[in-house]
Amino acid sequence: MNTHFNFCMPAEILSGKGIVKTSSEIFKLLGKKCLIVTGKSSAEKCGALADVTAALKAAGVEYSVFNKITENPLTATCCDGGRAGREFGADFVVGIGGGSPLDAAKAVCVYASNDHIVNDGIYTEKIINIPLPLVLIGTTAGTGSEVTGVSVLTRENGRKQSVSGKNFYAKYVLADPTYTYSVPTATTVSTALDAFAHAVESYFSKKHDFLSRKFSCLAVSEIVPLLLKLKDSDFKLSEEERDSLYFASLYAGLALNKGGTCFPHGMGYALTEDYGLPHGLACAVFIPAFLKEAKKGDGKGYAEIIKATGVSENELFKVLDALCKADITIPIEKIEEYRVRWSTLKNFKNSPTDFGADDGASLVYNLFGEV
Ligand code: NAP
Ligand code: ZN
Repeated sequence: MNTHFNFCMPAEILSGKGIVKTSSEIFKLLGKKCLIVTGKSSAEKCGALADVTAALKAAGVEYSVFNKITENPLTATCCDGGRAGREFGADFVVGIGGGSPLDAAKAVCVYASNDHIVNDGIYTEKIINIPLPLVLIGTTAGTGSEVTGVSVLTRENGRKQSVSGKNFYAKYVLADPTYTYSVPTATTVSTALDAFAHAVESYFSKKHDFLSRKFSCLAVSEIVPLLLKLKDSDFKLSEEERDSLYFASLYAGLALNKGGTCFPHGMGYALTEDYGLPHGLACAVFIPAFLKEAKKGDGKGYAEIIKATGVSENELFKVLDALCKADITIPIEKIEEYRVRWSTLKNFKNSPTDFGADDGASLVYNLFGEV
């Protein structure tokens, strides 16, 4: 057994129902002024915003809310958030939301303390000043962004691209699954598929190690039984099941923190940009093909992760085939564009076989090609 691992995830995770309400001391430690970064309405709907503002008031911390973060956040919006933070004199940032506001909050912390970095400059300019300290509070059970040093943003040319490193980790994660109870069913399915994709892609990634594989196995053991239930479109997860899904998304995030993603994520970005598919579903449509490649590249690992799901290979493919469907048609010219674009995609190189841009283009043609 290769038991080698090397693990760094510097955020302190404080978990439990009601954890935000009892976190005034943490907020007090971080400063006197806080910028809250969030999306349009979900932070309010799920109760997280009220809990944060109550805890900030109890700590005597002044706050300002920047709620302009959209899905697939733009670098320009995050840069505006950084400017808002500077003008307000924020000492720290609290990000509340799904992966979009959490990723945006990571970037806002960088922009706020580095006014030489503007919009897409976040991908190229040196971060000179330490980013503002960040507290993250997740409200979806999917991305695991809380525990990764990755921020996925949308460039000025409309392309999604990640930026990562030690400057992009939170200082604290306040993990309370009750905030996910208000997530609508379609988003629950898509985000659960995202977490499943993180677990399996990082499991087979060239950068995986002993520990990250343990997190992947733990994640799929909790997610797959829930995917089986979600296959029935009328099924509603219980609160306990939602708790389990939320923590599974964090385990998958911890695996992702080490292994990173493979070709489904690289290819999925294009389907979000061009066809508006939600992130999880956009990546998951390529997961069945990815698992077939993984079986060829690492049969032993494949057997281990299938065993961890608690279902047979057949049952797993049945549920994935039922859930990972998208009603889109992609013209051949677009697929040719993808073939060129993907020839430099790092996610292919991280994958377990030599599946490359040509294979990716054929897969898209088979799944969605115009006949
Ligand atoms: P999201 O884009 O953050 O949110 C999707 C929708 O769900 C929004 O309409 C949002 O509303 C709503 N929503 C969020 N929480 C809710 C709640 N508790 N109740 C009701 N509605 C709620 O979705 P996501 O799938 O979590 O994040 C996707 C993003 O994360 C993508 O940009 C993806 O690339 C990125 N990602 C990052 C990582 C990483 O490691 N950093 C990993 C995977 C994915 P509001 O607009 O009102 O907030
Ligand atoms: Zn993802």
